[in-house]
Amino acid sequence: MAFEGLADRLQNTIQKIKGKGKVTEQDVKEMTREVRLALLEADVNFKVVKDFIKKVKERAVGQEVMESLTPGQQVIKVVKEELTQLMGGDESKIAVADKPPTVIMMVGLQGAGKTTTTGKLANLLRKKYNRKPLLVAADVYRPAAIDQLETLGKQLNMPVYSEGTDANPVDIANKAMERAKEEHLDYVIIDTAGRLHVDNELMDELIQIKQNVNPDEVFLVVDSMTGQDAVNVAESFNEQLNISGVVLTKLDGDTRGGAALSIKAVTEKPIKFAGMGEKLDELEVFHPERMASRILG
Ligand code: GDP
Repeated sequence: MAFEGLADRLQNTIQKIKGKGKVTEQDVKEMTREVRLALLEADVNFKVVKDFIKKVKERAVGQEVMESLTPGQQVIKVVKEELTQLMGGDESKIAVADKPPTVIMMVGLQGAGKTTTTGKLANLLRKKYNRKPLLVAADVYRPAAIDQLETLGKQLNMPVYSEGTDANPVDIANKAMERAKEEHLDYVIIDTAGRLHVDNELMDELIQIKQNVNPDEVFLVVDSMTGQDAVNVAESFNEQLNISGVVLTKLDGDTRGGAALSIKAVTEKPIKFAGMGEKLDELEVFHPERMASRILG
């Protein structure tokens, strides 16, 4: 599981301060020093760590702690609240268009988990919200991606709109919208092409699709195993496409978790879902508070 190392270290650190009947500035200093190291070791972005520690310090030596009857526990509460804030604060909802279909565009680098997540998200929308999604194969460069989406559609018993590899992705997206309207499907989830690296040609194509279908959500799918690179990728996609949220995949692996803790702070876009495995039901709504509790024990 992700975050194990970070959780161990943070739990050790806060354990020391937990029972204290009096918390001195020196105690706070020592604790934040250890928290800082733990976060850096977990690969959290340097600047994000700096801001986080500053906030915790300010609050931990402030009145709410010093005047509390249980200052040790109060300090831990501060750390937990700030960690929750760092990951996005409140859990965020998925958009619903005033007039169906609601359009979700999935973007991200190749291998991040876009196609898999498209299937998982459709599954979750049907299971949790009783929605009828249409999956759209707009990655025309990789025949395997189209096959993969069609297979997912069969497994889920859900319609897939595809025109093979010869069509233009913008046309595919437009026609998929018509089909969704005709068949009264209420979500259109567009699986777009990915590349190994961010490149202009790809971005231009994504921008064109976006301008044409005017999506309600643009979800960036990022592989949490790629560490700081995930943060850079998120920054570039956000600059070009103004994403509306992030799906972090492969949190079931032994990622250190730093990306998860940095992306929200750097892009100011919420992490909406977390991929917890390869299976179609292994996508979870991301709850910042629950994740903070999991990390801090
Ligand atoms: P795409 O190129 O972005 O469309 O990526 P794919 O959807 O083809 O996924 C790439 C690989 O990552 C596949 O082997 C998926 O099964 C795997 N994958 C996707 N999401 C997760 C996840 O949350 N956990 C794990 N363990 N594997 C995942």
